[in-house]
Amino acid sequence: MQLDIIGVDGSKQYGCYLCSMLLGESVLLDAGSASMLSGSQQQNVEMVLLTHAHLDHVLELGFMIDATVTIRDEPLRVMGSRACLEIVRKHYMNDLIWPDFSRIKTSSGPTLVYQDIQDRKWFDLPGGLSAWAEPVCHGAGARGFIFRSGTGSIIHTGDTGPTSSIWKKAAQIEDLKMILAEISFPDSKTDVAIASNHLTPALLEAELGKLGRSDVPVYVFHLKPWERHEIERDVARRFSDRVVILRRGDRLEF
Ligand SMILES: [Zn+2]
Ligand SMILES: [Zn+2]
Repeated sequence: MQLDIIGVDGSKQYGCYLCSMLLGESVLLDAGSASMLSGSQQQNVEMVLLTHAHLDHVLELGFMIDATVTIRDEPLRVMGSRACLEIVRKHYMNDLIWPDFSRIKTSSGPTLVYQDIQDRKWFDLPGGLSAWAEPVCHGAGARGFIFRSGTGSIIHTGDTGPTSSIWKKAAQIEDLKMILAEISFPDSKTDVAIASNHLTPALLEAELGKLGRSDVPVYVFHLKPWERHEIERDVARRFSDRVVILRRGDRLEF
């Protein structure tokens, strides 16, 4: 299974791309940079899976459904925790900020359908993947995920501060191929990271200690763009080569 990195930044500035990763061709994980997919890529996406409802993760969902509404045969499925989807419906796709596409129907039916995730149960995704959703320490209905393809599994923390249950679940996964984890702030801004439920390199090191799998490669994302240089220095000093900072355009396989 291929994982294409469409955007990884933890906020928006010139030259930055908000979080979106393409799992195979059919599943878009977070929609911060959904508009950066080509028209045919957007058309191929069957499901947008949201880690949570914060703006940097849902921003371009509205533009993506708008751009593909007339060319879709099937509704776009938008999946997330119940709390996450409630926020998206009530505060974004609400016929005020943006149309409620779940009520816009073409001859082939609704253009968008919402589907709640059931926590802590494996569920199937398009393209032959299965996923496990685990509540993490962050607002807006946040979940981390474990994804399982036919050949391996990965963990994706989504946005989170220090947490534990997702690491306990990950410890049971024998074919764990990689860990994708957030880092938002450098070690010098630990107070801000804790207050906003995010990680620093030092906090991530403590999280990885909970899993205790030094053989599994770690990729990080969600850096605040204005903190990038300091985070890069912290990561290099603390982890040497074990932790790689993801960039737009990277492709991982599992
Ligand atoms: Zn967030
Ligand atoms: Zn975020």
